[in-house]
Amino acid sequence: MTSRDQVYLSAPSVTQDDIDSVVEAMRSGWVAPVGPALDAFEQGIAAHVGVRFAVALSSGTAGLHLGLKYLGVSQGDLVIVPSVTFAATAFAVNYLGAQPLFIDVDPIYGTLDPSLVEQAFLAARKLNRRIAAIVPVDLYGTPVDYSELLPVVEAFQLPMLEDAAEGLGGSLGRSQLGSFGNGAVLSFNGNKILTTSGGGMILTDDEAFATRIRKWSTQSREDFPWYEHYEIGYNYRMSNLLAALGLSQLSRIDAIVSRRREVRTLYASLLAEHDEVSIPLDPPWGVSNAWLTVALFEGRSSKKLDRIRSSLEALGIESRNVWKPMHTQPVFFTCPTVLNGSADGYYSQGLCLPSGPHVTDSVIYQVSDVILSVVRD
Ligand SMILES: *Cc1c(COP(=O)(O)O)cnc(C)c1O
Repeated sequence: MTSRDQVYLSAPSVTQDDIDSVVEAMRSGWVAPVGPALDAFEQGIAAHVGVRFAVALSSGTAGLHLGLKYLGVSQGDLVIVPSVTFAATAFAVNYLGAQPLFIDVDPIYGTLDPSLVEQAFLAARKLNRRIAAIVPVDLYGTPVDYSELLPVVEAFQLPMLEDAAEGLGGSLGRSQLGSFGNGAVLSFNGNKILTTSGGGMILTDDEAFATRIRKWSTQSREDFPWYEHYEIGYNYRMSNLLAALGLSQLSRIDAIVSRRREVRTLYASLLAEHDEVSIPLDPPWGVSNAWLTVALFEGRSSKKLDRIRSSLEALGIESRNVWKPMHTQPVFFTCPTVLNGSADGYYSQGLCLPSGPHVTDSVIYQVSDVILSVVRD
């Protein structure tokens, strides 16, 4: 089977216009890291999300690293992270010598449970450790319940970095994901809503935040005719060529997100008859971009999940368990936790289905048939 026949979990959509934009950027002579496409991409995303400043970086992980550094996270600190997320959220905390404190999640949407933040502070007090920040994650494009979280974060005066790597195009009330917290992080990895092949961004309304990230990400060069450095720097800036790809993709974002939402709706309608499987749609508190459609199976169903996954694999269709909770990852065994079993339950029940503009209706029918045949068995 060629890679072309394979249906991936989340494949980038790349058009002839995208390709032309990158070629055009090369021809224009802006192969140098910075250039006009980079500025335009930053301004375009900032306008789309409704924030004042955007700084394009080499990855979302780089954004988490520098964002947490700016919020003052340092050696020995704790940072509140939901247990269900991609490991990069927690890795970035460790880059600064700090440690994640994993808290549990909503049983249906898998997003950080705001009611556990207070318990996290009690746990930290017992350990005599400081909580320096919180990183809520818009899981699979579903917003965290910020209407619940923001008052808690304010009460504790807790710096917040939104991990919106999966969230671009989702919203809560009138606010787009990527506009919550002191700053937010996007990812433009190959499998995300928009891609620059690899890339990320920090969004913020705080000019000092943006200025600092811009400087740190370009080796902390001071404004002198020679190379002068007052601070440790990083080579984390996005290149102008990749920004040209992102800018071209941005022009299609509404179509990309609406196809992802359509895909999820079709799965939900095909599987609606069965009590044993459900497709969570938008949560009561916001609108998801449906980056990945998650199917939840009743009961402790990991055997069923395995059977579905391998049956789909035999058909050349990729599916994947939801993120394995961070508190169960060997690398994080020593991190403090506030758990109530929801993350473990979510992991044993959740399977990510192929989602995105590359997924045709016929693939969705095929996947649903496989799920129903295993569920009925
Ligand atoms: C993809 C992702 C990241 C990391 O982004 P990269 O651009 O791959 O470094 C961080 N957090 C979450 C939740 C992600 O899904």
